[in-house]
Amino acid sequence: PRRIHHAFLPWAASQPDAIALADDLITLRYGELPAAVDAVAAQFSAAGVRPGDRVLLVAENAVALAVCIMALSQLDAWSATVNARLSAREIDNFLDHSGARRALYFGAVSPAAQAHAVARGAERQLWPVIGEVYLGALNTHAEPEPVFADPAQQPAVMVYTSGTTGAPKAVMLSHANLLFIGNNNRVLRKLGPGDTVYGVLPLSHVYGLSALLVASLVSGAALLLVPRFSEQALAHALAMRGITVMHGAPAMYAKLLAWSEQTGTPLLAPHLRVAQSGGAPLTASLKTDFEKAFRIVLQNGYGMTEAAPSICQTRMEAPRPDCSVGQAIPGIEVRLQGAELDEAGVGEIQVRGPNVMLGYYRAPELSAETLTADGWLRTGDLARVDADGAYHVVGRSKELIIRSGFNVYPVEVEQVLNGHPDVVQSAVVGRAVEGNEEVVAFVETAQDAKVSVDALRAYLKERLSPYKVPTQIVIMQHLPAAPTGKILKKELQRIAASGN
Ligand code: AMP
Ligand code: MG
Ligand code: MG
Repeated sequence: PRRIHHAFLPWAASQPDAIALADDLITLRYGELPAAVDAVAAQFSAAGVRPGDRVLLVAENAVALAVCIMALSQLDAWSATVNARLSAREIDNFLDHSGARRALYFGAVSPAAQAHAVARGAERQLWPVIGEVYLGALNTHAEPEPVFADPAQQPAVMVYTSGTTGAPKAVMLSHANLLFIGNNNRVLRKLGPGDTVYGVLPLSHVYGLSALLVASLVSGAALLLVPRFSEQALAHALAMRGITVMHGAPAMYAKLLAWSEQTGTPLLAPHLRVAQSGGAPLTASLKTDFEKAFRIVLQNGYGMTEAAPSICQTRMEAPRPDCSVGQAIPGIEVRLQGAELDEAGVGEIQVRGPNVMLGYYRAPELSAETLTADGWLRTGDLARVDADGAYHVVGRSKELIIRSGFNVYPVEVEQVLNGHPDVVQSAVVGRAVEGNEEVVAFVETAQDAKVSVDALRAYLKERLSPYKVPTQIVIMQHLPAAPTGKILKKELQRIAASGN
């Protein structure tokens, strides 16, 4: 396939009756997908969308969103997918920054998207196949970008990265980027017809776009699209809806297990064969607890938006007892820059290959800082590597805390904290104080847990060198998190800096 909308074509012919995409409103079979995509593409054309245009898709996970992404691919336009739960200011920034011809708001599945649409006077329309959408005003100043026949040059999507402050940063990913990762995932996780994939990671992030959407469609699997995470809905789907493959952030698995324990609800997943964690550090206690509850291995993977996103994946043939993120995925190069200078062999992960982004949209300087002249992506993540090529991420270079000259890797402290039975999840950040840094830990405890700050400190003291034990421990009901489940460390750094 040369474009992402070609991914499902072989399956439309060979298994027309198999489910391709489903949510609570719409089920589309492989045989129905080509006509559905044609109809929606015609609707976009009628709305003035031309090759090289960007279209902002303000949505939560839904079949309608997936079909729109494929239809825009067919038109050689770019999808700029944006999570509807962002603030009005952020969405307006993205609309501006992307120079989108149109914005589409998916009100039927998302009250948040509907609110954004109504606030902007978008027009309610009924589109074939996907139903109710809200179409924003035509931007007559929108400039189409050049179109390339080469799938490695032609952007399929632009994805705004986690940063919620400062200027918008949009990663341009090509058709080749998404197809490469989709295929890699198909091979590594042995996806095929008969698989039902749980799709709760947002399609507004690249993890959802490539590892869920494109991977499912190239494999002939069914993708169940879920607009937002809930422990109860996930438990129900695992037990009742024949889920065979699950992708989630560590926080989702932690919440599922904590919910099961609190409510006394047993977890059943009779068909589950792949459980994949990624996007944030996996902790040993979570891996153990998960594997005890479900009796299958919790796979780990490491990546970032700029790498579409996969860089390392654990292998199903060789289950790991530890929290390694696994080996480099096949077909790419990974190196640790500066590792030879570090006692522990820790260096910055750099990546080169068909998964590496085209660059940041309209930001040549930032792109040149992140991509070297010979094609290496600087991830800003620190890792070491085992003799068998398995990587261990130890933290972000920017998050490394240097306390009285000693390196404190937040992940190590978080790993220990999360091992405490009352701790659901934790995040450790640095705080600058008079030419030094202090370690501050934020801890989310189980609902009825009575564990005190002093008890947690004593627990850490038994298990860590003194300089790694946090100066301050803050217990919170919920840690601030992005829709992917990723903890918002920048927000916690701000709280820590305010000294409270
Ligand atoms: P994003 O670009 O928002 O997708 O975030 C990517 C960042 O998440 C990476 O640069 C890492 O710092 C972190 N990350 C992703 N996966 C893992 C993992 N399995 N273990 C540790 N950190 C991870
Ligand atoms: Mg990032
Ligand atoms: Mg725990």
